[in-house]
Amino acid sequence: MSPKQKRARKAQLISEYRSCCWWCHKQLSPEELTIDHLKPKSKGGSNSLENLRLACYPCNNSRGNSLYPPRRLFTPAISMSILCLMLCK
Ligand SMILES: [Zn+2]
Repeated sequence: MSPKQKRARKAQLISEYRSCCWWCHKQLSPEELTIDHLKPKSKGGSNSLENLRLACYPCNNSRGNSLYPPRRLFTPAISMSILCLMLCK
């Protein structure tokens, strides 16, 4: 994604999910949010909106290239919901 596309995606995500982290629900300013791929690009994840969520730096970093939610927040409920998301496409 070009920086311009990234900005556009971010704006779309903010209007859809508000400016908070998808994982820890922390409210943040747009500059503090990063674009996170639910399915990492390295694993074939796309840049389409369905695959993108906003995340704070700690959550995004803690996920790395994993298919799973950030380890810092790992709970069975969250891991089930992401597994559903991956499998029900
Ligand atoms: Zn977070």
